[in-house]
Amino acid sequence: MFVSQGVDAALAGVLGLLIGSFLNVVIYRLPKMLERQWVSDCAGLDGSEPGAGEPFNLMVPRSRCQQCGHEIRWYENVPLVSYLLLRGRCASCKTPIGLRYPLVELATGLLFAWCVWRMPGQWAALAWCGFSAALLALALIDWDTTLLPDDITLPLLWAGLLASLLGLTGVALNAAVLGAAAGYLSLWSVYWLFKLATGKEGMGYGDFKLFAAFGAWFGWQALVPIVLMASVIGVIVGLALKFNNGLREGGYVPFGPFLAGAGFTAMFFGPDAILRAVGLG
Ligand SMILES: [Zn+2]
Repeated sequence: MFVSQGVDAALAGVLGLLIGSFLNVVIYRLPKMLERQWVSDCAGLDGSEPGAGEPFNLMVPRSRCQQCGHEIRWYENVPLVSYLLLRGRCASCKTPIGLRYPLVELATGLLFAWCVWRMPGQWAALAWCGFSAALLALALIDWDTTLLPDDITLPLLWAGLLASLLGLTGVALNAAVLGAAAGYLSLWSVYWLFKLATGKEGMGYGDFKLFAAFGAWFGWQALVPIVLMASVIGVIVGLALKFNNGLREGGYVPFGPFLAGAGFTAMFFGPDAILRAVGLG
């Protein structure tokens, strides 16, 4: 039992490395795809012909080196291994490849291995692997672009409700549905109160949808601990960036990565553990 559990977790880890490699593509390309879509929609609005352009999606074109345009061959694209063999440099022009790529692969591998280790032989493990992959992609896309694309947040929300219906999350369906609605409405209300009081936008609509998804995955009871934890980490990181002059233009810090961090904590330890940790549970 113990051995096969380890083998399964290791296999899941390898699958996670491959999915992580795909997530790198999603993180890099999805915001660009959305931007192209908006540009093309706007071009259509003023009656001009929207530019067809080269196809650009998650599959096409093949990945290239940003510096020299060298097309990445399959054996240069093996998760982790290629990065190590190439010593983190483009095979052609030797420009350093961002450490982010292997780290995303490694993180996804570890998350998948953890899910299968904790829930051996259960469909629930698959559900939480999907949750992890979506959350990791969202956190990094939001950090890079301050966007939380609907293409990920909404399926994550539906998947949470379905997972509850199928008994994969251990959250009763009524708690999941209530959680989804309460998650959206609570942050939506905070957003409008803050906006009416200060004239500023403290969050985006993507944050409401991500929080709604957490309501679906963890139940409404988990919303307070998750938002508490996300806010505390957000304030600490925001202050740290401020003192190190690391804030970007406008001083805006996206909330999504901190929500995601709290979501991972809730997955690892259970939402109640967050409350216990701050002495409220
Ligand atoms: Zn190159």
